Amino acid sequence: MAAAPASTATPSGRVAFVGAGPGQADLITLRGAQRLAQAAVILSDALADPALRELAPHARWLHVGKRGFADSTGQEAINALLIKCAREVGRTGLVVRLKGGDPSVFGRLEEELQAMAAAGIACEVVPGVTAALAAAASAQRPLTRRGAGRSVSFATAMTATTGDAEALPGRNADTEVFYMAGKQLAALSRKLVRAGWPGETEVCVVSRAGWPDELTSDHTVATLSRASMLHAGRPTVVVVGAGARPLTKVEPSASGKAGAPLVASLNT
Ligand code: SAH
Repeated sequence: MAAAPASTATPSGRVAFVGAGPGQADLITLRGAQRLAQAAVILSDALADPALRELAPHARWLHVGKRGFADSTGQEAINALLIKCAREVGRTGLVVRLKGGDPSVFGRLEEELQAMAAAGIACEVVPGVTAALAAAASAQRPLTRRGAGRSVSFATAMTATTGDAEALPGRNADTEVFYMAGKQLAALSRKLVRAGWPGETEVCVVSRAGWPDELTSDHTVATLSRASMLHAGRPTVVVVGAGARPLTKVEPSASGKAGAPLVASLNT
């Protein structure tokens, strides 16, 4: 674990930023589960599965319930609470900041790490399964493809300043995965066309990846807005390009081992 500069001068405990993964509790890492079991206090956000509580039944759970872009007051209040908890648990104590998916991907980790460094609190980051990877698993669509899919980008369809998908930069990878896009698929479709993606490019939309009711649907850049109703109100990622392409159908072998993938999938 990296030591924060002033940690030896204060009685503060440590803070572990832990990725909960995208869905059910069994998608957290073993290290993440260990940190939950060790924690005295856990600050969790809105995406964490409540079943994760069983991994830390004796800890004090505080729900900070932040979704999307919190205003600066919300973020500052969370930073202040983390610092307060780290001081309360004492030198040997542990505070876990549990975040959906991976803490380093659209998780406001930068602000929280900086606040801990400024307060002299030692930190650790435990990675988690980010939504893009859970979506690739749900849809059984590898994000990289030999020959055609050599790069992947994780992008947000929102911008902090305008909240507008129209303002995004251009095409920058063979496979682009858009987070926080669910509410603005029509705008994202127009933006993708302007960025140079042909209208017939494959797009795979996945919501609640990693949950039992995960849903995938196939579209093109031109028809992407049709996914809006299907995935409404669910956490959704949009996979564009090489990684969205359906796999070539393979006939079952004589032994019957190969067959249709076991995923809920809709073509629109
Ligand atoms: N740190 C998280 C992302 C937080 S931003 C991670 O690494 O996954 C929140 C966005 O993540 C949502 O708007 C949605 O685009 C995406 N997301 C989170 N969980 C998801 C899930 N189970 N299925 C699909 N998308 C998900």
